[in-house]
Amino acid sequence: MTERIREFLRHRRDDGPCLVVDLDVVRENYVAFARALPDTRVFYAVKANPAPEVLSLLASLGSCFDAASVPEIEMVLAAGAAPDRISFGNTIKKERDVARAFALGVRLFAVDSKAEVEKISRAAPGARVFCRFLYDCAGAEWPLSRKFGCDPAMAVDVLEHALRLGLEPYGVSFHVGSQQRNVRSWDRALKSAGQIFRACSERGIQLSMVNLGGGFPTRYLKKVAAVESYGRAIFRALCKHFGNAIPETIIEPGRGMVGNAGVIEAEVVLVSTKSEKDELRWVYLDIGKFGGLAETMDEAIRYPIRTPRDGDRTTGCVLAGPTCDSADVMYEKSPYPLPVSLEIGDKLLIEGTGAYTSTYSAVAFNGFAPLRTYHI
Ligand SMILES: *Cc1c(COP(=O)(O)O)cnc(C)c1O
Repeated sequence: MTERIREFLRHRRDDGPCLVVDLDVVRENYVAFARALPDTRVFYAVKANPAPEVLSLLASLGSCFDAASVPEIEMVLAAGAAPDRISFGNTIKKERDVARAFALGVRLFAVDSKAEVEKISRAAPGARVFCRFLYDCAGAEWPLSRKFGCDPAMAVDVLEHALRLGLEPYGVSFHVGSQQRNVRSWDRALKSAGQIFRACSERGIQLSMVNLGGGFPTRYLKKVAAVESYGRAIFRALCKHFGNAIPETIIEPGRGMVGNAGVIEAEVVLVSTKSEKDELRWVYLDIGKFGGLAETMDEAIRYPIRTPRDGDRTTGCVLAGPTCDSADVMYEKSPYPLPVSLEIGDKLLIEGTGAYTSTYSAVAFNGFAPLRTYHI
C-alpha cells in the first residue's frame, strides 16, 4: 500500500471493486531486478499485467518482454519496444501465429518438442530457438504442471533437430514455479542446464543462453527474501555449474515485477452464518474468483487484507465472492481471520494484487463488470 494509492482511493467516485497499480513501485522493482542481476537481461512476462501503462513504462526503462500470443506481441510493440526485445515464450503456438510474429520482426521462440521446431523452421526460417526443459517446482506456492518443457535429455535432441532444420539453437529455459520462496531452487535447474549445454557441445552445438524464467515472489502474508538474495543465489549456481564459461542469461519476472504494485479495493456485501448456532462467519465481497482473484484457486495465494477495523478482535471467516457459482469461495479450508466488528458496506484493501488479477477477471459472469483498473 503506497501513499499515492491511498490518496487515489480517497478521491475515487465510481462504484464497484477496482485495482489500483502504483507505477512508481513497478519502476522500483525493475531497477531492483536490474541491480540484483546486472549481467542478466529482463524479459517482463506480459501476462502478469499487460496494461499499456505498465508496458510503456518498462519499455522506456529498457526492459525486454516475454509474450505468449500475437496480441501480447502487438501490445508490446504498441508500447514502443522494438521486436528484437520480444521473446515468443509460449511453447504451444499455431504455425500461422509464428508466421505473424516473424512478420512483425520477432526472432526468438520457445520450443519443447520436435513438432514445434518444425513449425518454426517453416514459419520463421533461421530464427533463434531455446528449449524449455521440465523442472519440478518444489517450494513454489503456485507450482507449474508438466504442461511445459521436455525431459532434459530430449531437449538435446530437440535443439539438434532445430539446427538440422536451419534454425539457430540458442539456449535453454526453465521455470522454477511461481511465487518460489526458496532462493536455492535455481541451483538444481542450472545443473540440468549445464548438462544440456555439455551434451549439445559434444554434438557440435554451441548454446549461448540460459533463460532463468520467472518465479520471483511478491510479499503476501509470509515473508519473502529480497531480490538481491535471489540474484546472489543464482550467480553462485551459475558459477558452480558453468565454471568460467557463464552463458548469457535472461529472467522473465511477472509476479515479482508487478505483484506488490497493486491493491484491490473491495466492499463487504454480506456477513452471515449458516445457522443460529453456527459460529462460522461467511463474509461475501463484491469480488471473488471470477472478478480477478482466480489465484485463490485451491487457496494457493493468500492475499493480505486490510480492513477499517484492524486491531479489533478477529475470528476465522469463510471468504467468498458475489457470483452465483458455488465455486466462488476463496478461503474456506483455511478460514481467513477478519475482525468480528466487520460490517456490511465496509471497504477492504486486498494487497499484493498487481499481478494475475485484471486479465483473469471474467468479462461479464453473472452480469458483473470486469475488474476496473487504474494505473497511476
Ligand atoms: C508466467 C511466466 C513467467 C512469469 O512467472 P512469474 O512466476 O509470475 O514470475 C515467466 N516465464 C514464462 C514462460 C511464463 O509462462
